Amino acid sequence: MKILVLNAGSSSLKFDLFDSEGERRLLRGSIDRVADMQTAFAAAYARIAPALAGETVGAVGHRFVTGGPLFTEPLLLTPGIAAQLEGISGMAPLHMPRNLAAYEAAAAKLPGVSQVAVFDTAFHSSMPPVASLYAIPQRFGQDYGIRKYGFHGISHRYVSSKYAELRGVPLAGLRLIACHLGNGCSAVAIRNGRSIDTSMGFTPLEGLIMGTRCGDIDAGALLHLIIRGAHDPVELEKVLNSQSGLLGLSGLSNDMRDLHKAAAEGHAGARLAIDSFCYRVRKYIGSYLAALNGADALLFTGGIGENDAAVRAQICEGLSALGIVLHPAANQTRKPEAFPIGSGPVDVWVIPTDEELLIARDTLACIAG
Ligand code: AMP
Repeated sequence: MKILVLNAGSSSLKFDLFDSEGERRLLRGSIDRVADMQTAFAAAYARIAPALAGETVGAVGHRFVTGGPLFTEPLLLTPGIAAQLEGISGMAPLHMPRNLAAYEAAAAKLPGVSQVAVFDTAFHSSMPPVASLYAIPQRFGQDYGIRKYGFHGISHRYVSSKYAELRGVPLAGLRLIACHLGNGCSAVAIRNGRSIDTSMGFTPLEGLIMGTRCGDIDAGALLHLIIRGAHDPVELEKVLNSQSGLLGLSGLSNDMRDLHKAAAEGHAGARLAIDSFCYRVRKYIGSYLAALNGADALLFTGGIGENDAAVRAQICEGLSALGIVLHPAANQTRKPEAFPIGSGPVDVWVIPTDEELLIARDTLACIAG
């Protein structure tokens, strides 16, 4: 039997096929511009069928963006669980309906095959109240589930355990700061393998500056716009999620590569966007150094974190007093696997993420009971 991992995003369906141990990737692919998930899943299945080599799909693992207050462990999907997830889908309206549609499409095509949900929020359920609660009346948490959940948990869990594995040391006892810098961005403080704080919040909008998401912003500014009627709240949600971040600041692009090119040609907006992006990451690293009382390692992952030496250098520049010193030549390295880039007291590494591998492992563990 083989393990199929599905990651249904807001417009794509990514799929990865693993061997029966959930360790060896046999195939990976993506269907873009998904209009209908049943059709997309059928197209994905046609692509994986030859790689099944006569075997069956033994289990399907899904990345679910949020388990909200309900779920913090991987769990077997049933129609009842799916109904509960549908009830909280408003917490991630771009993603949850797609995650559920992928489950239904797989159930229709592969009846009787176990399907498992692995949650991006789960890793952060260990955050203490001082990190996870907003300083608003507690009834908002009780009545509406308003608190910090955090996201990118599967990626943060992967890179932190990979670092411990590469160094040959137990995760317990390590203080780590991981930065997932891609189109979505988040930072996390990890103690003993557990998330103690993270930059994303109730939704994936909070924290770092992202491709099109604003990250931290004064709630008062949004209230000002809404109460004075300058902006309809639904329109504002679109602006903050899809027209802000690097795109909003630069007025040009959400893609870091475009911004580097434009900044080199003198585009002031592109320069401002890159500088602001790096400054925000720096501030979070500083705050997590305080939360952890120092760190054993700083880890970079995601499209920017893995590939963009200039951004990594700018983030870490002048942090030697905090123990972070990049080695300039090592930082220029380009490799598909993990490599060290720091030579200061804080170990600094680039670790390519592999969320699907963790989902395959979690799926196997879940169906094994
Ligand atoms: P992700 O969401 O992880 O795929 O990351 C997307 C972001 O990574 C975009 O801003 C890309 O510009 C950036 N990125 C991907 N590859 C590179 C690269 N080789 N150099 C700089 N940025 C990159």
